[in-house]
Amino acid sequence: MARIVMKFGGTSVADIARIRNVARHVKREVDAGHEVAVVVSAMAGKTNELVQWTREASPMHDAREYDAVVASGEQVTAGLLAITLQNMGVHARSWQGWQIPVKTDNAHGAARIRDIDGAFLIKRFGEGQVAVVAGFQGIGPDNRIATLGRGGSDTSAVAIAAAVKADRCDIYTDVDGVYTTDPRIEPKARRLAKISFEEMLEMASLGAKVLQVRSVELAMVHRVRTFVRSSFDDPDAPGMGDLLNPPGTLICDEEEIVEQQVVTGIAYAKDEAQISLRRVSDRPGVAAGIFGPLAEANINVDMIVQNISEDGKFTDMTFTVPSGDVDKALAVLERLKTTIGYDVVQSEAGMSKVSVIGIGMRSHAGVAATAFKALADKAINIRAITTSEIKISILIDGPYTELAVRTLHSVYGLDKQ
Ligand code: ADP
Ligand code: ASP
Ligand code: MG
Repeated sequence: MARIVMKFGGTSVADIARIRNVARHVKREVDAGHEVAVVVSAMAGKTNELVQWTREASPMHDAREYDAVVASGEQVTAGLLAITLQNMGVHARSWQGWQIPVKTDNAHGAARIRDIDGAFLIKRFGEGQVAVVAGFQGIGPDNRIATLGRGGSDTSAVAIAAAVKADRCDIYTDVDGVYTTDPRIEPKARRLAKISFEEMLEMASLGAKVLQVRSVELAMVHRVRTFVRSSFDDPDAPGMGDLLNPPGTLICDEEEIVEQQVVTGIAYAKDEAQISLRRVSDRPGVAAGIFGPLAEANINVDMIVQNISEDGKFTDMTFTVPSGDVDKALAVLERLKTTIGYDVVQSEAGMSKVSVIGIGMRSHAGVAATAFKALADKAINIRAITTSEIKISILIDGPYTELAVRTLHSVYGLDKQ
């Protein structure tokens, strides 16, 4: 007997027929004698609709009320799945975040889980009950519903798996694993049998939305054996119930991966904007003077490029922010104009960041040069570059995103291995 947490994303619970299919996956594990807890997302498109309604009600709305609205999507699916399971003869009950409770911090709209006491769910296992938990939501110190940021049900699932010391956390989605790049963009992308925590962390934070970043962090810290797999597979096909090697991608320690490639995957993030400050005074404290106030305004600055000053007095500073934050960032910079001292500020939205990720880069030179040449051959202009030990990120014009992803995917032979 094992203890398994199963998470189902939005497309997997998009309608009643799919919820019925999900219930069959759950029943399979229950019938095999396992202890099962389930985490569900809202039905596909529901959260977007709810978010849109809050914006229509008021563009500048209270984050606590945003949470009250958007958390409702998961409540519906948890109830519907519990009803469906009961109808199949499985002892099931739905639970919302506050009932477990999933305790979070106070950052409404992007809350972090602080604590989950596993005892509540372990008691349910003892009763032979399948707990169907509404993902994406918890309760903050202010005693109000808090949501975990878009894609947050992944994090609910991994956090619950850690809290109940589950043997496995299965993230069921609309693809049958983690691919070398988004299969929607590159049909030649290949499914990875395994990917290391570090690489998955980079893939997720650089745009691959198959897992929320925080869920990968938690899986890494708490050593949760996490699989990404498809809910569209026939629940009763051979091998689906395999305890140690179910079909899908295992997120694991790099030591577990025998044949490590130099490059593991390509990720992309659209809707980036570039902001440049021209002729900024080149003196100590200027970067702090710019990025401190931007951080205080909750603006997520990503790539930063500062030129070497030619005359020792002035320099140019370029950085990227999400396109949606440009106006807010420009307002902050305008306010700082006299304190920082710069000539003009220029901004351009509609950029994309494509990234090459691989642990093998640590020990291989020339990976970056290969990317630059491949993009040059396709006449794709590079606007900014950042690198770390295991990734290279390149800022390009948005319309070239798909071409750049496919070009990089092929130049490292990811479609062939
Ligand atoms: P869910 O609703 O199940 O949480 P998401 O839409 O959040 O599903 O995530 C799954 C999607 O992530 C896939 O449909 C795929 O288009 C996208 N994706 C992006 N990068 C990758 C990747 N490297 N491997 C697999 N899927 C990816
Ligand atoms: N329903 C939420 C969202 O769309 C959480 C999730 O699906 O993981 O962001
Ligand atoms: Mg998701």
